[in-house]
Amino acid sequence: MEKKAFQAESQRLLDLMINSIYTHKEIFLRELISNASDAVDKLAYKALTDDQVGLNRSDFKITLTPDQIKRTLTISDNGIGMTKEELEQNLGTIAKSGSLQFKQDMAAKDEGKGKSDVDIIGQFGVGFYSAFMVADEVTVTSRAYGSEEAWRWTSDGKDGYTMEPCEKDTVGTDIVLHIKANTEDDHYDEYLEQYRLSDLVKKYSDYIHYPIVMLMHKS
Ligand code: ADP
Ligand code: MG
Repeated sequence: MEKKAFQAESQRLLDLMINSIYTHKEIFLRELISNASDAVDKLAYKALTDDQVGLNRSDFKITLTPDQIKRTLTISDNGIGMTKEELEQNLGTIAKSGSLQFKQDMAAKDEGKGKSDVDIIGQFGVGFYSAFMVADEVTVTSRAYGSEEAWRWTSDGKDGYTMEPCEKDTVGTDIVLHIKANTEDDHYDEYLEQYRLSDLVKKYSDYIHYPIVMLMHKS
């Protein structure tokens, strides 16, 4: 499979996330749930005027599935999904609101007049790449609304990403985080624990309009 490189700024942001000593790594969940909610908003909006969508407002949801055996946490939504091009565009380049501000702050820091990494990460939504604060591999499987095909984007954040076609029965996105192993200083196991995850949902994602459901993986 072909490995593609990240845009230079993206790689810089990823390196920072991977090596982050930031103490609020838990905000990754807020970021991924907020993206899932945005994606659901887009399809829910379409459903208002397009009968083809075939979903009612009450059908939309976000699902969290921790699997302690595989050490994965999956965040799924039945939102608008991404095409192959959108996966590459949206996850491979920094063109997005929060990330752009981030880039500017990082530049200011390089010139010696800015804030520390820690301040920068904490300041605003840093988006999708925050997943790499807690995961050593991230897989995004997505099927866009109106498309018959699904694509899978995989990355360890260090060495580019790969794309492959795959099967997905329903429109939407599944993000699988392979959670990092604990180190002496950092504990990641908590992101596989149901009660901890529901605490994080209450703390950061209370404002989300859609149900956030927790599934237990039976492995
Ligand atoms: P932002 O949310 O500020 O745009 P992110 O880094 O959080 O930046 O996300 C980048 C982009 O990736 C989003 O704008 C969106 O287009 C796409 N994206 C991320 N997660 C999803 C998802 N679950 N469903 C559909 N698109 C997504
Ligand atoms: Mg976002």
